[in-house]
Amino acid sequence: DSKRRIRNGWQMFTPALAQSQQDRLRVETHLRRAADNNEFHLVYQPQVDLRHGRIVAAEALIRWENRQLGEMRPDHFIGHAETTGDIVRIGSWVLREACRQAAEWRDAGLGIVRVAVNVSYRQFLGDDLADTVHGVLEEFGLPGTALELEFTERVLIEDAPDTLRTFARLREQGVVLTIDDFGEGYSALNYLRRLPIHGLKLSQLFMEGVPDNKSDVAVCQAVAGIARSLGLALVAEGVESEQQRRFLLELGVPVGQGFLFAPGLRPEEFARRLADDAVATV
Ligand code: C2E
Ligand code: MG
Ligand code: MG
Ligand code: MG
Repeated sequence: DSKRRIRNGWQMFTPALAQSQQDRLRVETHLRRAADNNEFHLVYQPQVDLRHGRIVAAEALIRWENRQLGEMRPDHFIGHAETTGDIVRIGSWVLREACRQAAEWRDAGLGIVRVAVNVSYRQFLGDDLADTVHGVLEEFGLPGTALELEFTERVLIEDAPDTLRTFARLREQGVVLTIDDFGEGYSALNYLRRLPIHGLKLSQLFMEGVPDNKSDVAVCQAVAGIARSLGLALVAEGVESEQQRRFLLELGVPVGQGFLFAPGLRPEEFARRLADDAVATV
């Protein structure tokens, strides 16, 4: 019977499972050719100074539009791409495209806006990442400080032998290193002392409960305390309300991103906002 089959390591083969496996194969097949077919683009979400909303950086977020599958959110394909290994090629494309865009904005007289790129743990396996970053920065004549890499705690759990060296080599180039979704993973706080990182991003998981949920508020306060005492920058994610903005300012969190300010924007729209910001300060 089904119980015994599960105990023996068999999986019940249900129509739902067949469906999900078919979906996975479909996604993976299309994903393999997506880069060559120019199906990816990036949108840019402003990171803003919470006091007045001025842009301080841009997080590049990947978008995938496939003719058969439609629009796919990253949460629906990044995991697959990590399993197949395609994420390494996709990740290199994202890195190069984000830097190309930053250089384009610079050349248009908008100044150098730092772009934050999400990096998968798989890109840290092997020690090519620092070389890839070096090559891309050189290609576009950008300083390392124009680039931020966001990675999740998963990178630290995989604990590839080269990871620490890669971090050090990125840091030497001036690249800003940030732990994304901080608090969601297995936060062994020990690594925060060992790693040459600049900052943390407070997971939007906890922002959702601000200001009503006491334990979410407590987690936000705790993370702000950790960042402050370790001298790390802190960016709040998922800021959707004026109340949350004020809560963060009272907590001493200077920078945030979220729908209160803007979702991920097409480059043209992002550039328009950059230009508006510049005008406002003159
Ligand atoms: P993330 O890096 O934590 O990015 C934040 C996600 O939250 C984005 O979803 C963004 O659109 C969404 N978001 C921003 N502000 C708000 C808000 O106020 N409220 C709510 N509810 N959501 C908000 P997105 O673009 O769907 O990306 C999801 C995740 O996919 C990202 O989480 C990141 O882990 C991953 N991802 C995106 N682009 C890339 C990429 O180029 N490479 C890799 N490896 N991962 C990526
Ligand atoms: Mg991110
Ligand atoms: Mg995040
Ligand atoms: Mg996330």
